[in-house]
Amino acid sequence: MTAKTNGEDLMGHYKAEYIWIDGSDPTAKLRSKSMVIPSGKAPPLWGFDGSSTNQAPGENSDCVLKPVFTCPDPIRGGDNLLAMCEVLLTDMSPHPTNTRAACAAAAEKYADFDMWFGIEQEYTFFDGIRPLGWPANGFPAPQGGYYCGVGSDEVFGRPIVEAHMDACIEAGLMIAGINAEVMPAQWEFQIGPIGAPAVGDHIWLARWLLYRIGEDIHISDDENKGVSARLDPKPVQGDWNGAGAHTNFSTRQMREDYDACVAAAEALKANHDKHIANYGHRIEERLTGLHETCSYREFRYGVSDRGASVRIPWQVHRDRKGYIEDRRPNANCDPYKVTELILNTVCGAAS
Ligand code: ADP
Ligand code: MN
Ligand code: MN
Ligand code: MN
Repeated sequence: MTAKTNGEDLMGHYKAEYIWIDGSDPTAKLRSKSMVIPSGKAPPLWGFDGSSTNQAPGENSDCVLKPVFTCPDPIRGGDNLLAMCEVLLTDMSPHPTNTRAACAAAAEKYADFDMWFGIEQEYTFFDGIRPLGWPANGFPAPQGGYYCGVGSDEVFGRPIVEAHMDACIEAGLMIAGINAEVMPAQWEFQIGPIGAPAVGDHIWLARWLLYRIGEDIHISDDENKGVSARLDPKPVQGDWNGAGAHTNFSTRQMREDYDACVAAAEALKANHDKHIANYGHRIEERLTGLHETCSYREFRYGVSDRGASVRIPWQVHRDRKGYIEDRRPNANCDPYKVTELILNTVCGAAS
């Protein structure tokens, strides 16, 4: 490689934003950094300091970033890219925090099932320490009118939601829609239907875009500050809905036959504890049996039942085929982990 001599050398280049999942415990978070790459060259392997991300000790700190999914960067535009990465050890094996590798292996093992996923990612906007638009003292009017609401007394943060939806479309992510949620300042976007591990790639990148766009849209009370989006599963204690990541899924067989939908729900029932343990930190605060949830202590499925662990949509019951909704995952879940478990549980039971 020749040394760069002047600014002109950088003309024929683009920027790739390397995005990865760190080792934060108990809930991992996103990190990213930018590489300037000659035009026409794909994003190469890269390294980072794992001792700063809870992924390595200081005396042996190098971890490897392997781009596994790239898409246009809607923030920078042009030829610039976002690159979702897996974290590897220097021997090129998956890092212990890399949950995508196991997800991809499960999807490969059960490729014949052609499993599709649609994830509903709920989240809450924060202005400093309180939800966006909430009064400095006390609470807004009780829940009831906010879900899919309209008007400045009901809806907080729509400019970010709109910009985020456009950014996801521009990036080529499989965003299916958005809606305002039951708690004011809480929102949802849906990704899918799409296979694994792609659904996880798209969810993690859509999360990254949400955080990134919130940096630039200054609609908080302090006009010099952006708005933070959080995946806290129970952002406000009391009579306020938590935030989940309902995971809808279907195998080819489920899309043709209702009995396969029921069999999938039964397979989830037989593995309830294992799923709950991997569906996001503080799940017991959210799955209380109130606020459209079933207690984490039990497992129930039912047609149209939003108080069940797993809902069979009414039209699936009517059509005798389709998909089911696992309502248990928390907003702060790892979609690679959730989809890996569903693949292994549902396809394993049907094999
Ligand atoms: P809800 O009524 O629970 O709010 P949403 O409309 O928010 O439902 O989300 C439904 C999700 O189900 C969407 O992400 C959609 O892509 C997904 N979905 C629809 N059909 C299927 C299918 N056959 N397999 C998997 N996911 C599906
Ligand atoms: Mn929804
Ligand atoms: Mn929802
Ligand atoms: Mn749902």
